[in-house]
Amino acid sequence: MRISTRVGSLRGSATLAVTARAKALRAEGRDVIGFGAGEPDFDTPEEVKQAAWEALQSGATKYAPTPGSPELRAAVAARMREHNGIDCEAADVVVTVGAKHAAFEAMQCLVDPGDEVVIITPAWLSYRPMVELAGGSVVECAAGIEQGFKATPEGLKACLTERTAAVILNSPSNPTGVTYSPDELAALAEVVADHPDAVLVSDEIYEDLIYPEVDPAAAPFSPGSMPELADRTVTLNGLSKSMAMTGWRIGWAVAPGGDGVLAKGMTRLQSQMTSGIPTFLMPAAVKALEDQPVRSGAMREVFAERARLVAELLSGIDRFRVVPPSGAFYAFPDISGCFGRTSPGGRAIDSAGTFAEALLEEKEVAVVPGDDFGEIARSHIRISFACSDDQIRDGVARIRDWVDSLE
Ligand code: PMP
Ligand code: GLU
Repeated sequence: MRISTRVGSLRGSATLAVTARAKALRAEGRDVIGFGAGEPDFDTPEEVKQAAWEALQSGATKYAPTPGSPELRAAVAARMREHNGIDCEAADVVVTVGAKHAAFEAMQCLVDPGDEVVIITPAWLSYRPMVELAGGSVVECAAGIEQGFKATPEGLKACLTERTAAVILNSPSNPTGVTYSPDELAALAEVVADHPDAVLVSDEIYEDLIYPEVDPAAAPFSPGSMPELADRTVTLNGLSKSMAMTGWRIGWAVAPGGDGVLAKGMTRLQSQMTSGIPTFLMPAAVKALEDQPVRSGAMREVFAERARLVAELLSGIDRFRVVPPSGAFYAFPDISGCFGRTSPGGRAIDSAGTFAEALLEEKEVAVVPGDDFGEIARSHIRISFACSDDQIRDGVARIRDWVDSLE
């Protein structure tokens, strides 16, 4: 069967592919340590499950409003006002099938063929296909390990042109784990504010997972709270990471500017695509939002300790270079010190892809090769430390022994 050129040339998500591969190997009985999935190992809080169950039992099984129930949109807007300082109303909120869906829809609504979207790389690997499927092209603002994976305002400014439709910021960052300070983020946002036609897309999915224990300057900040950008910012968030609800698929976009033109556009698009998220999940999402401060606070403490542990252990691998993660649950070591060598199993290591493949085969540790996170990310691997301390210790020890044995 013939399929479209657009989809024929589309790469599937490498993060999801690595996660699926690790699961399949485990199902075969292999002792795989999964550093692939960007997915908390906690379970969803019991009271949130209970709310979904009660909604089901009370008959919430029919179609829901496309942009979300009025109660859920109001709860999201309240959180974004109180927690993020964003001046918004329920009508500015569109609830989506995860933040991934929100980002996809935002790109469809903001980008015309020929437009450019600036991303700071290394960047989450789904942004590029989202931009390209909307007919736009990606401009990579490279911020490598030598600058701590942080873009400067000057660097960002140099990437903006009259064709720039949007700039995507993501702090804490997937895949680097780096968190900008509020001042640094505001300085980047100012660059967008000075460029009258560009929209700022702020992906804040990891905002509850920030570790001042690692970097005292790291703190949450929403550029959408800046008056000069209030009309031109789309803020993306969801419950996947902060409430351990990845499989529920609940995210949102908040876009108060321009008389709600973006929220309305996203709603129209969604009405032709998925409709609203499952009806019985709406009350559960409201419950999750109520409980979020306490629940995600407890998870944050655990992740902060893991961030410290993983940075310490990785710094013990001589051929790696590492920036200690100050947010999210990713470390993104530079592994180019291993290139040109051969593994104990006889595999030539000349790229992040060959490294990840050989590591999985020979040591049963799953990591994501950096390639799809941007041009500058090709000599890196992503290690997700959303797993137990024991798994972190065991997995990094396996990597260290194996790297030491490369010839
Ligand atoms: N943004 C970033 C930076 C991510 O890492 C992810 C990964 N899940 C998402 C958005 C989307 O998350 P979800 O669709 O599960 O809400
Ligand atoms: N965002 C997570 C990750 O990067 C989940 C998988 C995905 O949606 O990309 O691993």
